[in-house]
Amino acid sequence: SENVIEVRGLTVDFPLRAGNIRAVNHVNFDIPKGKITALVGESGSGKSTMASAILRSVSSPGLISSGEIFYQGEDVLKYNKEKMQRFKWSKVSMVFQAAQNALNPVMTIREQVIETVRAHDAKITEKKILDKAKELLEYVRLEPGRVLAAHPHELSGGMKQRVMIAFSLLLNPELVILDEPTTALDVITQAYIFDILAQIHEDMGTTMLLMTHDIGVVARFAERVGVMYAGRLVEVGDVYSIFDNADHPYTSNLMKSVPSLLSNDDLQPIVGSTPNLLNLPSGCPFHPRCKQAKPVCKRVDPVMVETGVDHLVNCHIHSNEEYAREQHLDLEE
Ligand code: SF4
Ligand code: MG
Repeated sequence: SENVIEVRGLTVDFPLRAGNIRAVNHVNFDIPKGKITALVGESGSGKSTMASAILRSVSSPGLISSGEIFYQGEDVLKYNKEKMQRFKWSKVSMVFQAAQNALNPVMTIREQVIETVRAHDAKITEKKILDKAKELLEYVRLEPGRVLAAHPHELSGGMKQRVMIAFSLLLNPELVILDEPTTALDVITQAYIFDILAQIHEDMGTTMLLMTHDIGVVARFAERVGVMYAGRLVEVGDVYSIFDNADHPYTSNLMKSVPSLLSNDDLQPIVGSTPNLLNLPSGCPFHPRCKQAKPVCKRVDPVMVETGVDHLVNCHIHSNEEYAREQHLDLEE
């Protein structure tokens, strides 16, 4: 099947005075056309950095130190300024968590719609822009007349986020990246927005990449999922195959820690704290929190192995002979 984006060996570093933070560590990742793919992980796992890297907008002092991001066979990281300008919004657009900050407080939504489209296509008529905007605002279940005339402060957080979703579709992008698009909103508004996004996906066939910390949302919304931990992709595959049979201990822990998937009695919060990115554990960075860790996990970095059709896992359980021996010794005791 065709991929909109193919990420290869992507590494993003943040050189800080206290040391280097590798926010994304040699990630290989495909975004298949026409599907909803999710990237899930705790905060600091690297999902937002992945999102901004795809649009080459990693915030300073972060930098893409190696890797490739292919779009239609070309490396986006080698695009010149003009090509990059066309790529953003018209090929790949993004909805951030904080819509409040993305909208200009002193301009009406109407003015911002026109400005956004004109920045990419100076010749397009105002009527055409507004027709499209009205259609999209109706799509996100807002009253176009009222919203276009409004300033951002006249809209609720949920309305602003729906405006941002409409904005992200203005230039008919192939891929929309949604970085925690509902995190700041109440639960009912969150469900409402996911309902709208699912409808957009169904009707327009827009490919979506959702970054979220909530694996419950992934189960309901996405078709494919990548799990990130400490800047690494630790498991990736079809949602059904991962939810039926999570092969990475972190993924199964994540699923057991979410109230929306199991009864509250069975909740098992993941033990230990999120890793310190300035001082990552050796070997597998999950080893201090992993109940299945063996001595080899501390010493050796796991590699990505295939455990099923389109299902990849970064854990010694599935590939390392030394791990198997150590496991065997434990069982004999
Ligand atoms: Fe746990 Fe070892 Fe697998 Fe890491 S490699 S997740 S420590 S079993
Ligand atoms: Mg984030």
